[in-house]
Formats: sequence, C-alpha cells, structure tokens
Amino acid sequence: MHGKSLIQYIYIFALSLVFIHCGSGKAKRKTVFVTIGTGAVTGVYYPTGGAISRMINKQIATYGIKATVESTAGSVFNVNAVLAGDLDFGVVQSDRQYQAYTGVAEWEKQGPCKDLRSIFTIHPESVTLVASKKSGITSPQLLRGKRVNLGNPGSGPLQNSRDALAAFGLTEKDIAAEYVKAVEAPGLLQDERIDAFFYTVGHPSGNIKEATSGRVPVTLIPLVGPGVDSLVNQYPYYTHATIPMKLYPGASNKKDIQSFGVKGTFLTSKNTSTDIVYAITKEVFNNLDEFKTIHPAYTVLTKRNMLEGMSAPLHTGAIRYYKEAGLIELINPSLLQE
Ligand code: GLU
Repeated sequence: MHGKSLIQYIYIFALSLVFIHCGSGKAKRKTVFVTIGTGAVTGVYYPTGGAISRMINKQIATYGIKATVESTAGSVFNVNAVLAGDLDFGVVQSDRQYQAYTGVAEWEKQGPCKDLRSIFTIHPESVTLVASKKSGITSPQLLRGKRVNLGNPGSGPLQNSRDALAAFGLTEKDIAAEYVKAVEAPGLLQDERIDAFFYTVGHPSGNIKEATSGRVPVTLIPLVGPGVDSLVNQYPYYTHATIPMKLYPGASNKKDIQSFGVKGTFLTSKNTSTDIVYAITKEVFNNLDEFKTIHPAYTVLTKRNMLEGMSAPLHTGAIRYYKEAGLIELINPSLLQE
C-alpha cells in the first residue's frame, strides 16, 4: 500500500482545478431540445418538420438548439399537443389554425385557443379524392354507398372530407365511412378493402404516389362545382387548387385535377422562448433557396406567400426576425397584436 503524501494531494487538487477551469472555459452552451409535430411519414408534414429541423440543427454551434421531428396523427393533434406543452412546434393546416384560434369545430367546447402563435405558412395542400377505377367513382356524387376513408380523428383532413361531401350534397351517413390513418389508406385501396379515400396533403406526396402505383388502377377525382365555389366563398381559409397530374404518372387520369385546399402552417405556443422562435424563423428565411430544394412541394414558396394565410397572432420571436429582415410590412397588422 502506498499512501499519497500531502504534496501529492495538493498537486492532484491543483491539477483538477485547472481541468475544471479549462473544461468550463471550452464548454458549449447547454443544448436545448425542441420537438416538431408533423403527420404521417408518407405525407409532406413529416419531411417539412425534417427540413425545418435540418436548418436549425446545422447552426447548433450558434444557437445550441437541437430540433427533433415526431410523426403524429396530424393537425388537430398538433394544435392540442402544442397547447398542452407536449410539442414545441406543430405543422398545422391553415383552416385548423383558424378554427382553433377562433374556438370552432373541434375546439368549440374549449373556446378560442388564445395561446397559439403563428410563425409562417408553408406549402399549399389540396383536398385530394383518390378512387379505384373499378369502383366506378368518376365524380364525388358517386361516392354514395361506397367505402370511403375520410381520415383519422386528430388529423386535419377529416373536416375537409366532411366539407367536400357536403359540397356535393352528401353526409357521412350516405357512405360507408372509414376513419383510418392516411398512411394506411393507399394499402387499403390497393387491397380493394376501400373504394376511395380523401387526404388533404401537399403534392407530390409519398401517400398519393403509393396509392397510384400499385396493381389496382387508381384515379384522382376532381372536386369542382357550385358547392366547392360556395365553400371557397364562405370560409377564409379555402382556395381553389390544382393538382398537377405529372406528379403522379402511375394514376389512370393524365389531366390536371381541380380541387380546393388550404396551406400548411408552422405554429407554436405563446410560451415558447422568443430566442428559439427567432432563431428558427431566421434560419428558414435566410436560407429559403436551400430550404426550397428539400421538397418539391416547396417550389412555389416565396417570403411573401409564407407570410400569408395565418390566423393566430405572430409569435414575438418571429416578429423580431421579420422586423430585422424588413418583412414586417408584408404582414397583416392584426397578427402583430398580442
Ligand atoms: N394535412 C394533414 C393533416 O393535417 C397532413 C398532411 C401531411 O402530413 O402532409 O393531418
């Protein structure tokens, strides 16, 4: 046994002080983890969350923010999880943002969700009706009596599917309605277990590619007519939309499809740190050209149209960046009030 001398102890102690000092001098700031809620992995929200997280994670040395992406049930789930503090950010349909902020649809009982804060909007999403050729569905009216997936509870699309049915004089009772997740619908269609499905999604999406490239021939059905016109006139969040069929070469129809749609938006809560929201907004906007290369659905994005289609007030971190970047004039002033 060799006991250490006092001198040795003093030496070790002094050395450890040096290490502690050096360590803390070099230490990076503590990493803050944030989570972005998206949708099904075959949708566009999931890669959108991935694109946003990629922009911020590249700058980890500057901001110390590490974003991770979660696949979720979709818009309604994301709004509620952001409000509950279970997610920091959510990709959410513009109509769902509007409904939550004003306290209608799924939020009627709880009333207006005043803690929601918008950051920017993203790609357009179209209400997409996909049917097997064999089903004989060539127009929405012919959905009567058919097995149709309207979308899962918690998703954004469920309400759009109901609105689309209503625009053609139908309700859920007129069809054999299914409420499964979008990720399962292409498989069910190809297995001939459903005749058609609705999905509100950006294009191109993996989901519609999968549905249109199997054994069973599949066609996209136009959603067009006076019923759709009155939806667009009645609701501030609906617009007419076109689905370019060159994006889905496997589909039976080749002509572009008219429909109606909304926008994907990026949402948070009032309680999210100003610095974090500022950093994410800045990285996405300052690197928009690079961001746009991440998914073909972003081709149409401009700084201007990414500031349109929001209903919840802007988050303070986003306001800070838009002021600094000279973009604040492009924003509806009612969104700048707390
Ligand atoms: N719009 C869908 C929803 O809110 C998600 C679409 C997607 O994941 O791209 O649930």
